[in-house]
Amino acid sequence: MNIFFDVDYTILGLDDSLRPGTKETFRKLIDDGHSIYIWSGVGLRWEVVKKHQLEDLVSGVYEKPTHHHEERLEELGVDVTPEFVIDDYPELAAAFGGIWVPPYFFRRTADAQMDRIYGIISDFVATGASEDKQFRAKGTTVPLF
Ligand SMILES: [Mg+2]
Repeated sequence: MNIFFDVDYTILGLDDSLRPGTKETFRKLIDDGHSIYIWSGVGLRWEVVKKHQLEDLVSGVYEKPTHHHEERLEELGVDVTPEFVIDDYPELAAAFGGIWVPPYFFRRTADAQMDRIYGIISDFVATGASEDKQFRAKGTTVPLF
């Protein structure tokens, strides 16, 4: 699958640290045959890819549509179909199908979200869904108002 990760608070903390397990999880997903992309609502985040040496793991860097998600992919030059999305903003994960993750702010050893993400993706590949509460099936956006 084409797996898209958000940047701020999904793989990157407020303190500029990478969420624990990010590189190892990217590697495992690639070894399983997936491609990893990163995107951000504030633009192309090559500086993050370079600073954390993710060049060999990431197949592309894009700007993320923060509204009218699928409709805006072409306008933003996203020429790869996002098949599974991991984001701390639940609407993004639900729009494309994927995983909502609690925001990551500071490096701490207690954060095991990357292992959880890997497990949910493995469930999804095997069965087309996941029992994990953080899984969001495509198109399940619940309106806030
Ligand atoms: Mg974010």
